Amino acid sequence: MGDCRYCGKSAGFLRKEHKECAASHEQGLGMIRKVCVDAALRGVDVNILTDKVRSIGAAAYIDTSGAALGETLARGWGQAVEAAMDDHFLSNEEKRALNRYRVQHNLSADHLDGSGHFTLFRMMNLLNALSEHGVAPRFDRRQVRPPFNLMKSEELLWMFGGTDYLEEVTKREFRGGSLGVSFRVAKGVYIRPGAFRGRSVATSSMQHTDSGILGITTKHIYFKGNRKSFRVRLEKIVSFDPYRDGLGIMRDTARAKPEVFRMGETDAWFLVNIIDAVMSMDSVRLPKAGDPTLDEIVDGGLA
Ligand SMILES: [Zn+2]
Repeated sequence: MGDCRYCGKSAGFLRKEHKECAASHEQGLGMIRKVCVDAALRGVDVNILTDKVRSIGAAAYIDTSGAALGETLARGWGQAVEAAMDDHFLSNEEKRALNRYRVQHNLSADHLDGSGHFTLFRMMNLLNALSEHGVAPRFDRRQVRPPFNLMKSEELLWMFGGTDYLEEVTKREFRGGSLGVSFRVAKGVYIRPGAFRGRSVATSSMQHTDSGILGITTKHIYFKGNRKSFRVRLEKIVSFDPYRDGLGIMRDTARAKPEVFRMGETDAWFLVNIIDAVMSMDSVRLPKAGDPTLDEIVDGGLA
């Protein structure tokens, strides 16, 4: 006879759980997710959230004691960030609620980023600053020294480490397909994370020629690899090809061949959205000394 991993009582021969216990556990996780997302995104019942989580947990065999409570609340914050991303938009109200929640429950950026959700929050803050406020955050050079020779008339927005650079190997006279693709949805609205999920970078016709850091500024894409370094002006790119795991570009020259930057799915989603936001701005206001950095904007500036 086995004992149920939830209630601890006998579950029957070769069984590890009661169906009903597993079901109420699942249901409890869903309810906790909902109350956390409501609190973290919409400010619902923030002061009684821990009580609610504890009482749901007690009825659903979910540990909410000590550190486990902190983990549960941190997971809830991450789920709220994902929910904000799914509805295509991070409003100032959502941002304030997310910040209030992490302060109230004493959740550090490092803790929240164990699952990458704090980085996602920073990404959405950058998109929000660009498309809602028309502001480019001041790049904080004290943290990372960019390996690019930047121009005075641009601001570095983000760097993506571990980017693969691929070039088309087979020469083709004719290229059909997605020239001039626009992925604009609407001002201030993000492109869904799953929008390009069906397509991954084709490696059969492309050759991986270098790996390095991709930088996106208000004017250019920069790439710094072991063998190649270059920048491409965004306006000189005639088509963007978003993939689930990268971005393809075609330069505005007669002999241009497809080039692809291959990266993680979230990074690819983010890069496409930055370019989209930058290119749809009438004019980008470059930050001056003393203007807020992205981290300052995340913590409350602009909102
Ligand atoms: Zn049971």
